[in-house]
Amino acid sequence: MVSRSRSFAHTGIQWQAEAVPAGGSFAPATDFSGAVSLPLSRGIPGRPRETSAMAIPLPFHSRCFEPVKTPYRHRNVTIKRLVLDACQFVRCQSFVTGRFGKPFSPSRFRVEIDITYKCHLRCLNCNRSCTQAPSDMEMPVSDIEQFIRKSIEKKMAWQRIRILGGEPTLHSRFSDIVELLVEYKKTHNPALNLVLGTSYHGTAVHRALKKLPDAVSIISTRKTSRMNLFRPFNVAPIDTIYNRFSDYTCGCRIMEDCGLGVTPFGYYMCAVAGGMDRIFRFRMGRDDIPDASDDLSDQTSAFCPLCGHFGFQWPTRRTKMSTTWRKAYGLEP
Ligand code: SF4
Ligand code: SF4
Repeated sequence: MVSRSRSFAHTGIQWQAEAVPAGGSFAPATDFSGAVSLPLSRGIPGRPRETSAMAIPLPFHSRCFEPVKTPYRHRNVTIKRLVLDACQFVRCQSFVTGRFGKPFSPSRFRVEIDITYKCHLRCLNCNRSCTQAPSDMEMPVSDIEQFIRKSIEKKMAWQRIRILGGEPTLHSRFSDIVELLVEYKKTHNPALNLVLGTSYHGTAVHRALKKLPDAVSIISTRKTSRMNLFRPFNVAPIDTIYNRFSDYTCGCRIMEDCGLGVTPFGYYMCAVAGGMDRIFRFRMGRDDIPDASDDLSDQTSAFCPLCGHFGFQWPTRRTKMSTTWRKAYGLEP
């Protein structure tokens, strides 16, 4: 086993990737509770390319019984979003931010909670690395209790809380977590929009959705294939030439649109960053809900240079992975 390390001159941060076998496949860290290591046999550069079989709907989908109501299909990539991404790219160039300031700031009104990194779908380009570095990690229920307690103490007026993952319904204590959040909504924040984000795929998921209280609404991409149209999350902007004048401390509109990230590693400007910290192990999550004065610029400086959501990238159904991510997953030295 060898370990990979690399320093980022622009942040002064040293990351220590997981210990990886000399052969190169990813091995989860020892603190990934119950993490499963799967060699990446498909869809990774240097490996055989995906076959058209991956576009075939997964076999168990047709056997699933339908929950009470089929949710509206949420699309990750739309023309409007691509236009916004292009505007965001221009707005986050250093000569523009130098004149007009940063366009985005951490949200005080929206939250995404990644309660688990378990997912049975294995989508290509998953932005929580559930395919690239599978894990059974779950957020302890005590973390949700702490989040609720802190929200009450700090009088946070959350407008929307999204329960996400991974596939959140696969959390072993999913119903307990939902119950806590519904109770918080009832007693402290009746205007809260409590949302569950799910793939809506598979019998176990449908079974959990059937028991979901009315106080929780569902948002779903209703995936039927692993080859979904995604932005290439694993193309790090620092590996691209066209981002050489980018100001990474800007973050991106996900900070405001999706909101603060609550993850098993702490609080981040977005939940995507928490998922990245699982791989890069910067361990930069805050222990508490950040104060309004905390712009989390240390997190944006560290994670946005690595994140394919920064600026503009053309969406794809194929796996795309740049050098920094291949090293982080242990696919190249
Ligand atoms: S369903 Fe979502 S969490 Fe699961 S692999 Fe696909 S993109 Fe990742
Ligand atoms: S880590 Fe990615 S998703 Fe999060 S703010 Fe930065 S660019 Fe956006």
